[in-house]
Amino acid sequence: MNGTIGVIERYKEFLPVNARTPMISMGEGSTPLVKSTNIGPSVGCDNLYFKLEGCNPTGSFKDRGMVMAIAKALEGGRKRVICASTGNTSASAAAYSARYNLQAFVVVPSGEIALGKLAQAMAYGARILAVDGNFDDALKMVRDLSTELSIELVNSLNPYRLEGQKTASFEISDALGDAPDMICIPVGNAGNISAYWKGFNEYRIDEQISKLPRMMGFQAAGAAPIVKGEPIHEPQTIASAIRIGNPASWDKAVAARDESEGDIDAVTDAEIIEAYIRLARDEGIFCEPASAASVAGLIKLAAQGQQFEEMKVVCILTGMGLKDPTTVENHALVELEYVEPDVDQVAALLSK
Ligand SMILES: *Cc1c(COP(=O)(O)O)cnc(C)c1O
Repeated sequence: MNGTIGVIERYKEFLPVNARTPMISMGEGSTPLVKSTNIGPSVGCDNLYFKLEGCNPTGSFKDRGMVMAIAKALEGGRKRVICASTGNTSASAAAYSARYNLQAFVVVPSGEIALGKLAQAMAYGARILAVDGNFDDALKMVRDLSTELSIELVNSLNPYRLEGQKTASFEISDALGDAPDMICIPVGNAGNISAYWKGFNEYRIDEQISKLPRMMGFQAAGAAPIVKGEPIHEPQTIASAIRIGNPASWDKAVAARDESEGDIDAVTDAEIIEAYIRLARDEGIFCEPASAASVAGLIKLAAQGQQFEEMKVVCILTGMGLKDPTTVENHALVELEYVEPDVDQVAALLSK
């Protein structure tokens, strides 16, 4: 059945589905869980897996939660949805709205979103409002607008988003035959780490798994409110998807950290970029900079002396690299080699 049905139908017993909830899908979920070939062994982690959430229909895990939120909006007879976004939520909201005949309004921080994500919202035909401010300003605005104009809010404040997102923890458990020992995951608005923790707990109660993983969340050093213990007013990081100063799911993420005996730590932009390039060069996986925070975090844990023998560790790679061509252009440091269409000359060049 893998890949042929979406997450709502596949995991309906665990989701807020009733007889009136439309079983909509764009084939989200069922993303690959692939074993690391190089990075894991290099840090003493022989059972490292990557969950490739960039393989979702719009290229990020946001589709898992959006399909659930849109299903509930349709069930409630809504015609319009609104969200604030660092890019991927807007891409996903715009796509599902297009498919199910809703009007989507997306509010993005002006000049702060990756090119590919803006291209997606444009292609899917959303109405795009670029607000002069950061993500936190945009979120505050859509909260007020959604009440004022009674438009369905599909940010992660919408509880159905986390419900859909938790299906990734079910897939990982199903694929490994039990829960892994550790999850490494980027943290921005902190909805995803909270959703995974909820999912693992529900699977445990249902006796689908025998244990719970430690939840290791990673924020970018310039946007690390949970690590610092206070909101950051001007969050800065190259990883735009986690450039968030006041996470909506702060308390839930802290509970996930504490209940799982995990941690939420920060990784620098230099560490994020190093992991991002290594994932591409050593594993053949091109993810978003924000996604690479999970692997930067794993590498940091190893450097601090964490032992991984016998442990199964999963790094969540939340989105795909093509969304942010600017970062790869600025950091991959590959020069194009301009050549004439002359075999002998090119052969000579390649033999040097
Ligand atoms: C949204 C997003 C994140 C952050 O997830 P939160 O639930 O906000 O913590 C990380 N990576 C990518 C690619 C995202 O789109």
